[in-house]
Amino acid sequence: MSNTCQVAGCRRTAALRSTRMCRKHITHNRRWGHPEQRPITKGELARWKAHVRGLINKRANREKVWTSVLALLEACRTSALGEVRDYENGKLAHRTSLTVQRVIVDVTNEAAAEDIVLAMLSFGYMGELEWSRFRSDNAFFAAMGRRFYLMGRSNYAGHFNATTGKRHLTARELSPKAVLLLGRTMSAAFAALGMKLRMAEVEAERRLIETKAAPMRALDEEEQQP
Ligand SMILES: [Zn+2]
Repeated sequence: MSNTCQVAGCRRTAALRSTRMCRKHITHNRRWGHPEQRPITKGELARWKAHVRGLINKRANREKVWTSVLALLEACRTSALGEVRDYENGKLAHRTSLTVQRVIVDVTNEAAAEDIVLAMLSFGYMGELEWSRFRSDNAFFAAMGRRFYLMGRSNYAGHFNATTGKRHLTARELSPKAVLLLGRTMSAAFAALGMKLRMAEVEAERRLIETKAAPMRALDEEEQQP
């Protein structure tokens, strides 16, 4: 039996017999929830965030939307803070769950609430617009969890490069289980809202097409009269 990586087109030797994946694809799978998932880059996410911000801001009730969605993030933060404090006061906690609650507390301390909300809504929006962008449910949750995690400054460690004389920041790895749980937690709170923004956009596009077609239809009706 062949011992090459199972990923199509990859000729590298499998590092583990159990998964039949090479080291590169094992790492990719751990980070992004699927060995072939094309990562949602920071630049790509920035474009979606700008689009989603525009969709909210052109609504007549934008202030209400912003207030409520920011309150939702605050509720996630309060809940996470509660669980971390309970653990510190001696309550038992599942290790992965505790890690995730700590990440939520850190990231909401370190990143702007509006940025976090826009990023999380963008994933729901992307999921509704183009689900094929994600190779699996786990790839969706991993992308959402990982992008959330990478918004926290304390999740990076600095190291000094003697050759360039520069300080570089590398993200500390979060366990795949924690990334997925984090993504699921954020998805439960924000994905449906992001999807709804896309559905509202589709409805507005449909109405515009209707409006444009109406005069033509009216002329057609006139012609048909005896
Ligand atoms: Zn491979």
